[in-house]
Amino acid sequence: MSYPHLFRPLDLGHVTLPNRIMMGSMHTGLEERPDGMQRLAAFYAERARGGAALMVTGGFSPDAAGNLGPHPAMMASGADRDRHKVITRAVHEAGGRICLQLLHAGRYGKHPAIVAPSALKSPINPIVPREMTAAEIERTLDAFGASAALAREAGYDGVEVMGSEGYLITQFLAPRTNQRADDWGGSLANRMRFALEAVRRTRAAVGADFILVYRISALELVEGGLPGEEIVQLAKGVEAAGASLLNTGIGWHEARIPTISQAVPRGGFAWATRRLRNAVKIPLIASNRINAPEVGEQILARGDADMVSLARALLADAEFANKAKAGDRAAINICIACNQACLDHIFVGRFASCLVNPRAGRETKLVFEKTSNRKNIAVIGGGPAGLCFAAIAAERGHAVTLYEKDAQLGGQFNLAKKIPGKQEFAESVAYFAERLRRAGVEVMLNTIPSSDTLKNYDEVVLATGVDARRPAIPGLEHPSVVGYADVLAGRAEVGEKVAIIGMGGIGFDVALYLLERSSRATLDPQAFLSHWGISPSGSLSQPAPAAPAHRITMLKRSSTPFGDTLGKTTGWVHRAELARNGVKMLKGVEYRRIDDAGLHIALDGKEQLVPADTVILCAGQVSRRAIEAPHVIGGAREAGELDAKRAMLEGAELAARL
Ligand code: NAP
Ligand code: SF4
Repeated sequence: MSYPHLFRPLDLGHVTLPNRIMMGSMHTGLEERPDGMQRLAAFYAERARGGAALMVTGGFSPDAAGNLGPHPAMMASGADRDRHKVITRAVHEAGGRICLQLLHAGRYGKHPAIVAPSALKSPINPIVPREMTAAEIERTLDAFGASAALAREAGYDGVEVMGSEGYLITQFLAPRTNQRADDWGGSLANRMRFALEAVRRTRAAVGADFILVYRISALELVEGGLPGEEIVQLAKGVEAAGASLLNTGIGWHEARIPTISQAVPRGGFAWATRRLRNAVKIPLIASNRINAPEVGEQILARGDADMVSLARALLADAEFANKAKAGDRAAINICIACNQACLDHIFVGRFASCLVNPRAGRETKLVFEKTSNRKNIAVIGGGPAGLCFAAIAAERGHAVTLYEKDAQLGGQFNLAKKIPGKQEFAESVAYFAERLRRAGVEVMLNTIPSSDTLKNYDEVVLATGVDARRPAIPGLEHPSVVGYADVLAGRAEVGEKVAIIGMGGIGFDVALYLLERSSRATLDPQAFLSHWGISPSGSLSQPAPAAPAHRITMLKRSSTPFGDTLGKTTGWVHRAELARNGVKMLKGVEYRRIDDAGLHIALDGKEQLVPADTVILCAGQVSRRAIEAPHVIGGAREAGELDAKRAMLEGAELAARL
């Protein structure tokens, strides 16, 4: 077997899991929707059929105060219990097992009735929590037990008590958020009482033959969080209180260190799980950025953990486990840690899906049935939209030919994969190329089809993508002016003083690319830790300032906040990185001209010079549409607000229809 450690059964006493792959908890945004339970049932059942040994739902609160938002996602009544039965039934019919996550948001809740151990506002939430009374604490702990009992009645195989990421239980544990002077604050024993009592009451409510996962914060990544030795004490206490598995979480949501974004190396936090190895006998679960079977296999083989938790990886590919078990690595659609269609959606109230797998979260709506009307289809363009369309259309039974003018498939993905932390895009290109091969798509590289050729097809799909916009600025022909594609492809020399015109996703990407070449090596786990000032004990220090090889000024005409179009969960990492490297940002500028001295602008009515050896154009995109076609998808259809997420979704939706 290719991954022997991943596919060893795990005996939990009353139940044996068939492998070591758990789907970690993800809030999908469906939890609060009227049709959410049906859609979640289909979502989880698909992943159960895909071979995950155990799954954990998104967070459900044991009471109203613990809700994440104004719309309740709770397990607190018989009605809640009954609504969940459709999920557990679907998962069990598919041969899987599922735990309900019990999550009390504490001061992270986005509603007026939030509570916390102390009335201290979180830096990421404007709402100040009310301090819990001792009676309220007792009631909340009882609610954990009652909620777990309801979960059992609903047919769940277990619960996960959420004790990480900065939610209520963590807030009791850490001096940062717990300033109580009673029995629930002060000493470590007092601060641990809430966590241990929550586990004890949960276990008492569900009996011995029920899985009880506790998610411990293995690394806090905030000032005033638990130090490493106290986390070890907590792990021991949690085991004694009745947990059957110890899952690990990394960092509070308010931590200013990336924990799951592309900046984090694969499996880059498994060492924090390993620190608990000698503390407990119950199985340990490692998490964060485990996106490929070989990463999980290495973590288990090294003995860092007994099981691995993959969350987004199973959004990207529901059949991850079955494919890994079959040794078919090339068939796995790898999560590229972009957060664009999953976490970034949650932050703006949309349901989670996946950039590279638009079907995720749409299991009941985006259905790819075999066609009874096989057509000859030409696809022009092998970027994200064309790749996704061609693969699905061919799998449905159509005869598909894909024309790509370049020598390789991938389109804009081939530029994206050169960006620091976006190397994972190379996985997507390789995956789709292989999927096209298996689906029997005829791929014609270096080919632009003639209009005569296209007449031979029943359907023509235009997916030719975008061209970079050339803004009307005098001096644009000056030799110092280069396009972003030339920079990323390594075709352009870039001087020491750089001006970047345009501050969309690509402007930020180009700035990061220039800095990465000189100062970063984030794919190396050790380099990542020192880059962000994380010591082996988990404590934080101010990392040494980098010595950037370029002095960069980024500019835009609008006056909106810098980086406002970047993803909510990744934009701050980019901004922090650029600030650390002394990148200057100017908004509300008017471009005057470009000459030997650099870029001349007007700002607040005053003429200024931005000295520049190189001026890089990142001024957005225009659709590339050489011919008219009945079906136009991705950037060729609409260049504004284009990203690969929309391109892939449009490809998938059209392929489902034709
Ligand atoms: P973009 O996000 O639309 O940004 C274009 C930039 O060019 C803006 O800052 C705009 O600023 C400027 N601009 C537009 N017209 C201009 C003109 N005529 N003259 C001078 N400046 C002009 O486009 P992009 O950066 O090319 O990105 C393309 C797509 O890829 C985006 O939609 C983005 O979502 C996606 N992408 C996303 C990420 C990510 O991290 N999520 C990363 C890379 C790309 P002003 O109009 O204010 O001057
Ligand atoms: Fe992974 Fe991006 Fe898909 Fe989220 S949207 S699951 S981060 S590939």
